[in-house]
Amino acid sequence: MKSLQLSSIFLFSALLVDLTMASCAHGTYLHKRKLHYKRAEESSSSNETVKTVEVGKFGYIGNIGPTNWVNLSPDNIACSTSTQQSPIDVTNTSTTLVTAGEVKITIPDLEEAEFENLGTTVEVVMEGKGGKTVIPGGKEFELKQFHFHSPSEHTIDGEYFPLEMHMVHESAEDSTLAVVSVLFSISAQANAPSTPLLLELTPSLSAISTPGSITATSPLKFESLISSISSQALHTYNGSLTTPPCKEGLEFFITSQPLELDVLSFNTFKAVLGFNSRFTQNAIGQANLLTASAGSVATGETAKNGTGVVAEEKAVVGEKKAVSGEANKTVTAGGENAVASGSAGAKVITVDGSQGKAKLHETVKGLTGVDLGALGF
Ligand SMILES: [Zn+2]
Repeated sequence: MKSLQLSSIFLFSALLVDLTMASCAHGTYLHKRKLHYKRAEESSSSNETVKTVEVGKFGYIGNIGPTNWVNLSPDNIACSTSTQQSPIDVTNTSTTLVTAGEVKITIPDLEEAEFENLGTTVEVVMEGKGGKTVIPGGKEFELKQFHFHSPSEHTIDGEYFPLEMHMVHESAEDSTLAVVSVLFSISAQANAPSTPLLLELTPSLSAISTPGSITATSPLKFESLISSISSQALHTYNGSLTTPPCKEGLEFFITSQPLELDVLSFNTFKAVLGFNSRFTQNAIGQANLLTASAGSVATGETAKNGTGVVAEEKAVVGEKKAVSGEANKTVTAGGENAVASGSAGAKVITVDGSQGKAKLHETVKGLTGVDLGALGF
């Protein structure tokens, strides 16, 4: 009981100090994704040299997931404060349309390329392979790598896709980044042809099922991919890396029509990738969603309109000893049999603290729909 009270109060305090803690997190230095293809260390157990690649320390689930990237390294502050974050929901108002063929991509066919499992994605290294993209206005970017996300990070008018490929380019002139983002949809018929590049990559995935492993691809041909991208309008906007450190200033060019993805390729990619998609960010220029939610927890702001949840309005309740709170008012702790009350707009919660946790949960759920048990109270 006591631990419940303490943990409830601690949880509440933790929410309040979340942002300040971010700047003093130590010991979890994250390698910068910056074209995330850190060269592997060579490790030899016998006479053979096995090449591996450094695995990313961030993830997509739990404590290392996107809501907590800021706490993995001080370098990741933009992830929770920047107002120019990717991915976004692509709409006609959130992006600009570029006419078909205006983004000019050239990639020579390759005998092979390195294919790596970074733990956070699988990536084909294209450094020095001669791939180039010229964007409207004439600026040229070199293709450094391409990698995959499942499900897609960008959505179009709210619709997500099973796979998204990010072709990451860098300008030799000023080191700015541009990403050509290709969305894929499952082919409509069984055995329907997939995008040739995916068919060429899929058999190699079994060789890199372990994070850190590297293999060589089969010959890769890009003609079909380039022609599919070039024959359609692309959505463009200025966003950020979708992985730590969430650096701003990336120009995205996103396909408006998904390319073909066969079921076998999808299942093979999905099995190796796992879930690796950052949640949809707020519209460019709007408040960062993590800043916004931390702010409303701290001030009870959202409770004012009657939609706030109990945690937001600071009605943190223990089993017997109760804590009452109202939106925008300081939390005070009551006595052993105190009454817990919290108002969320028109909703008023009044619970006798002696009624026990189950009754309290039931009452709060009935009044607000909020499941305190699920919130850990
Ligand atoms: Zn990506």
